[in-house]
Amino acid sequence: MTSHIKVPQGGSKIVPGQAIPDNPIIPFIEGDGIGIDITPVMIKVIDAAVEKAYGGQKKIHWMEVYAGEKSTRLYGSDEWLPKETFDALKEYSVSIKGPMTTPVGGGIRSLNVALRQELDLYQCVRPVQYFKGVPSPLKHPELTNMVIFRENTEDIYAGIEWAVGSEGVKKLTKFLQEEMGVKKIRFPESSGIGIKPISVEGTSRLVRAAIKYALDNDRKSVTIVHKGNIMKFTEGLFRDTAYQLAQKEFGAELIDGGPWCKIRNPKSGREIIIKDSIADAFLQQILLRPAEYDVIATTNLNGDYISDALAAQVGGIGIAPGANISDQYACFEATHGTAPKYAGLDKVNPGSLILSAEMMLRHLGWVEAANLVIKSMEAAIGDKQVTYDFARLMDGANELSCSEFGDAMIARI
Ligand code: NAD
Repeated sequence: MTSHIKVPQGGSKIVPGQAIPDNPIIPFIEGDGIGIDITPVMIKVIDAAVEKAYGGQKKIHWMEVYAGEKSTRLYGSDEWLPKETFDALKEYSVSIKGPMTTPVGGGIRSLNVALRQELDLYQCVRPVQYFKGVPSPLKHPELTNMVIFRENTEDIYAGIEWAVGSEGVKKLTKFLQEEMGVKKIRFPESSGIGIKPISVEGTSRLVRAAIKYALDNDRKSVTIVHKGNIMKFTEGLFRDTAYQLAQKEFGAELIDGGPWCKIRNPKSGREIIIKDSIADAFLQQILLRPAEYDVIATTNLNGDYISDALAAQVGGIGIAPGANISDQYACFEATHGTAPKYAGLDKVNPGSLILSAEMMLRHLGWVEAANLVIKSMEAAIGDKQVTYDFARLMDGANELSCSEFGDAMIARI
């Protein structure tokens, strides 16, 4: 297969476990639909923040790699995720991507899911913070400030399921009824069946990452969100494993006999409370008492619902950032889709991808540049210089195009 990737001159590879070079090569996937609008704006804003923060001492060397519709045009009609793209994402460790069309039919369920599984990106990290001036349905959206760690590889999401009437479902139903003594499948003839695996290993690595994050960033609590009251051996296992890990690996001490416990952060001397909440109650609590929650560790499906609910709470669906992370690799991404009707119109909000790149800067340890990105976004929104999605909900806003919003940020860096 012909190679289409051009490795930029003068850049260095990021090698897991080694210091981040000042000139890292970062592969990026432009993305389909509005990817062509938001990705160049993201690069321009990030380059400006890095230049301002380090005066030329540090610089990202962007390397385009291809996936989605663009790769089918370059590599051939079935090449949604070429091997050389996978190889580059592995070889260069840290990458960023725009949204991608989900192919209809064919072998790939979803490009995003394929990437997560192949690179074993087991943490889906979504910070949720409020930017002053963003239209929100809450009276006090500023009280919401959380970081969600969603398990990304297990749960009902693993895709282990059989369609109604299929050979697989018939075999499984027979096995369950005859060999496992299951009598509770209410309508065995017309059921589809999905399997929900949750493991000690999968839970441990996710919760470990969440607690480490809380320690590194001096956060006040980690809440384990689960449905363990009903699904005792899966969601309940998640909760129990999380509490045990906090005690075994982080020396957490029980509060009033448990199960809540606390860890003293050696860096700040402050305590981090480890607590849990049942998912349905949690969805009430984040509306009623958002200030009581900080870092969230949860299973895959719960995390899916919670991410969107929290993003909406701060008015941030268009600007919600995200990352998929493993111990070796990290892929930062816009959390919205390709919004095809706006593609190429230079209209949509580039905020989600820019804030995902801001997370990437923090991941690299380039905190000064990351802070400038946040500061300039706060300033642009505070000055009511916003794209259409916010402008239509704000009084007195000046509606900017996608690229103009990027320039408004750069002017405030
Ligand atoms: P979508 O997020 O693309 O669009 C829904 C609506 O949200 C748009 O019509 C628009 O009004 C708004 N919107 C989205 N991004 C915006 C932005 N940056 N600024 C302002 N408004 C924005 O969701 P969809 O229409 O359900 O999906 C379209 C395609 O995207 C599908 O192929 C889907 O599979 C794919 N998708 C990809 C990802 C991903 O790559 N991470 C995520 C979700 C959906």
